Amino acid sequence: MISIKTTCPYCGVGCGVTVAEEGESLTMQGDKTHPANFGRLCSKGAALGETLDLDGRLLYPEINGQRVSWDSALDTVAARFQETINQYGADAVAFYVSGQLLTEDYYVANKLMKGFIGSANIDTNSRLCMSSAVAAYKRAFGEDAVPCSYEDVELADCVVLVGSNTAWCHPVLYQRLKVAKQQRPDLKVVVIDPRRTATCDIADLHLPLQAGSDAILFNGLLNYCRREDVLDLGFIEEHTEHFTAAIRSAQESARSIPQVAFLCSLPESSVADFFRLFAQTEKTVTLFSQGVNQSSSGTDKANSIINCHLATGRIGKAGMGAFSITGQPNAMGGREVGGLANMLAAHTDFSPAHTEMVQRFWQSPTIAQQAGLKAVDLFNAIKDGKVKALWIMATNPAVSLPDANLVRQAMTDCEFIVVSDCVKNTDTTRYADVLLPAATWGEKDGTVTNSERRISRQRAFLPLPAEVKADWWIISQIAQRLGFAKAFNYQSPVDIFREHAALSGFENNGERLFNIGELANINNDEYQNLEPIQWPILNGQGTVRLFTDNHYSTASGKAQFVAITPRLPVNLPDNRYPFVLNTGRLRDQWHTMTRTGKTARLMEHAPEPFITIHPQDAKALNLIEGCLVKISSQWGEAIVRLHCSDDQTRNTVFMPMHWNDQFASHAGVGQLVNPAVDPISGQPELKHTPVCLQAYTPAWQGFVLSRAAITVESQDYWVMARGRQFLRYELAGEIVPENWHEWIKILFNTDGEWLEFSDRATGRYRVALVKNQTLQAVLFVAQSFDLPTRTWLSQLFSKQSLDDIDRISLLTGKAALGTEDAGETVCACFGVGVNTLRKAIAKQGLVSVEAIGAALKAGTNCGSCVPELRKLLDSRSNT
Ligand code: SF4
Repeated sequence: MISIKTTCPYCGVGCGVTVAEEGESLTMQGDKTHPANFGRLCSKGAALGETLDLDGRLLYPEINGQRVSWDSALDTVAARFQETINQYGADAVAFYVSGQLLTEDYYVANKLMKGFIGSANIDTNSRLCMSSAVAAYKRAFGEDAVPCSYEDVELADCVVLVGSNTAWCHPVLYQRLKVAKQQRPDLKVVVIDPRRTATCDIADLHLPLQAGSDAILFNGLLNYCRREDVLDLGFIEEHTEHFTAAIRSAQESARSIPQVAFLCSLPESSVADFFRLFAQTEKTVTLFSQGVNQSSSGTDKANSIINCHLATGRIGKAGMGAFSITGQPNAMGGREVGGLANMLAAHTDFSPAHTEMVQRFWQSPTIAQQAGLKAVDLFNAIKDGKVKALWIMATNPAVSLPDANLVRQAMTDCEFIVVSDCVKNTDTTRYADVLLPAATWGEKDGTVTNSERRISRQRAFLPLPAEVKADWWIISQIAQRLGFAKAFNYQSPVDIFREHAALSGFENNGERLFNIGELANINNDEYQNLEPIQWPILNGQGTVRLFTDNHYSTASGKAQFVAITPRLPVNLPDNRYPFVLNTGRLRDQWHTMTRTGKTARLMEHAPEPFITIHPQDAKALNLIEGCLVKISSQWGEAIVRLHCSDDQTRNTVFMPMHWNDQFASHAGVGQLVNPAVDPISGQPELKHTPVCLQAYTPAWQGFVLSRAAITVESQDYWVMARGRQFLRYELAGEIVPENWHEWIKILFNTDGEWLEFSDRATGRYRVALVKNQTLQAVLFVAQSFDLPTRTWLSQLFSKQSLDDIDRISLLTGKAALGTEDAGETVCACFGVGVNTLRKAIAKQGLVSVEAIGAALKAGTNCGSCVPELRKLLDSRSNT
């Protein structure tokens, strides 16, 4: 058996994965030796092995939809980019890249654009993730330097989670925190989030603050620390600057607890409890994420958090610090190489000294002298015809960027678009003139850096299929065709890594913290066997936490307070759009579902796109749980299922970010989201768009479960989700077909035994198609969404042969008495449904999550479903 260690390709926790290869079979588990996860994996990581097939892969280069040779594709891309540069200048071309790229891929792309094409028009989808945190760290510390490590979260006595549904978005880090709290119940957890999320399961205090009011809260905290005399005046005096301005702003904007409570729409007691806890607990980590960053004042919010840590001297020490946790697997690697348009490379910027130094290191003919276009500005420039040739690498901007309708129009109008991706059909690839097949996880080889600055190897354990190539190779080939053969003559990722490491150490006498120069001469074997290590690397050792010497990367060597004047979001609710739309991730999905959408067990938890609203808001709008709703903003609209929950604050709604045109007809949240950005970081305000809701009432609604794929794109509403041995389609139409039987014959396009039930008076129609005693497909239709659950019918697709009881029950859609219907999946790891759980809780008298785990295994693997298990227990004890 061969065992290969690699790194999970999903979130910024950066868990190690061990792949065991025995013959044809591959098994995966958490790497017990990896310091990020010590063997744990979440539901997504645990299902990685189910996502390796070639279904849907882009396997050959294409020009205008026709397969071509690599030479032809590369020659075309190079020629079109060269023509555009010759005619319009270097700034008429751009790259839009991704936190999914490995550091080596990122390095080559950045070097080509900034050092050889001579433009800084390379930006990344990481702009949407943590660019506000980057900007805040640069303002405070002089460098994009995350001070903490995951172990600080465990060592703290108080962990404040701001704008972070850690339980779902960074599950393994959440599990580490949860275990720490179990071992030390005195460890306090505060969750600051407008929603009551699964993360609140371990919270001692939840502050459901008004969306966008974080800076008021933290200015209030700074002011409180001054009033309560818990400032570290010695630290402020010796190691910081501009405290006076910061405290003045805090006093002006957040004078007292009652004022803060009023402005944040929080109970005074909650604000007081939080302030007291923070003030009294020296070992405090404030962990923040997209809820802070994705805002038109995200940089200020992050600085308001950092200010509180600087004021109390809680930085550079074990169990303390302001800790930005990134969404993407290699967001940090991209930051190291300069993958953002406003960075140069290796933590340098566009100052004359840095540009001269980097150009000299690269020996490049030119170098960009100023920052390029950030993501939203880039697509505006494409729309305005200023950028005429675009290369998109490993990302799906047609879905993920705000104002996605404008982004799509920009791509339609763009003269030349190249997309290099591992997936053939995405909402973005349809705009490509040239498609280049890129390697994916399991085939790629290189490094990634997680949220705690830990560089880990992502190792290949699969051969490159068909004509697929690594991103670094593709970019290098284009660079060579543009006339830069010598500078891009890389033979393998390690060549690139050595150069990247060398640049980090080049003329770096401690001015830049990012320094892995000691790895510049790493040999191939050492690279192959590189153990996870945190930068900076000094004397062969990684660095657990930064600023232990109280020295910062600023001109004065001192940390900088930033005076924060809290600002409201750019677009506010009004009579026409009275609700605030908040967007985010789900537990079992990743980005636009190109990988996680392949596995049934990850689709079972939330198979249909939805919006969550407070029950009282739903009631006021005459909307009921389960109905379809149309959500509209000034920028676009969507149609999704309504879910009511009092975890949602009044006048706000939440919609997941994952669905797109490959999985649903009208569920792209990017089409709703406003394009407001933070003026410093350029990060879009993805968490705050005014919207309105109204019922969507089609003439009929229904669902299909089918072994074979069916064509549904012409339906007025459709959603597709992969099940176990079937595909699930949710459908709705505005016109009832004249003859359902004829309609389904076209839909299913196959023969077999049809079992049918029709009642025109009530609009009900049900049909099952059986062939050789196995169920092939079912369609259930009604005038509304009053339809049976899909779970029991789903289970029939796993049966070799239907028995008589199944056939009798088939068109009722329900299990016959005495037959098990597991219900909607709660535990994705072990496929345990809600009905099974409810029954076990009631019949076996289960009173704890541990007891459920012992009885059904649910919650005992990744632990992501534990908050839902606890809710089931709570609802049982409340009945
Ligand atoms: S927490 Fe889950 S998604 Fe994130 S790196 Fe670990 S296994 Fe992957």
